[in-house]
Amino acid sequence: MALLALAAEIDPSVPVLFLDTGKLFPETLAYRDQIVAHLGLTGVRIVQPDILDVAAVDSTGDLWSRQAGACCYLRKVVPLVQAVTPFGAWVTGRKRYQGDGRSALAPIEASDGWVKINPLASWTKQDVFGLIAKRNLPKHPLLAKGYLSIGCQPCTRPVTALEDERDGRWAGQDKTECGIHTLEPPAVIAESEREIALTRDA
Ligand code: SF4
Repeated sequence: MALLALAAEIDPSVPVLFLDTGKLFPETLAYRDQIVAHLGLTGVRIVQPDILDVAAVDSTGDLWSRQAGACCYLRKVVPLVQAVTPFGAWVTGRKRYQGDGRSALAPIEASDGWVKINPLASWTKQDVFGLIAKRNLPKHPLLAKGYLSIGCQPCTRPVTALEDERDGRWAGQDKTECGIHTLEPPAVIAESEREIALTRDA
């Protein structure tokens, strides 16, 4: 939200990729529409997984419960890479305070053939919420219910006051990132990759 507000000040037609995995909270979809209207964004592109890929790899819709790495690859990495490919650079809202693989995040990265720009890398949580408060920006409705980092519904839970904000993502698993910022496919997705490739060749 903070990043989008800053970008919209410069150019509300900036291309914004919204990745709809098909597993998002209904509140997130409503919040997206609220943000678009509030900021006057005109360049939002909805990115979704290919329906044939989903039919081939996750026809029952519960791949997340068996192979979360493969599910993220199918529903996030593949569609986002396709959507980002026409661009030479992309801007992300990641922050170092979010921890894990983000604690040494550089403001500008050369990563997998793209330039990634992370303008909020050094921002603190207080910086983010300070800007949101100062500009009276709408907040995601699930924040008030303890969801401090919000991804797909099956893989997100609220956190306690003693936990880090991303502890509610893939709780109980080793997984801490969906893969869109690492692009290093875990071994478990090999079968999914093969099935997706076969689907596309058919
Ligand atoms: S976060 Fe969960 S439901 Fe969403 S794509 Fe990843 S594994 Fe699938």
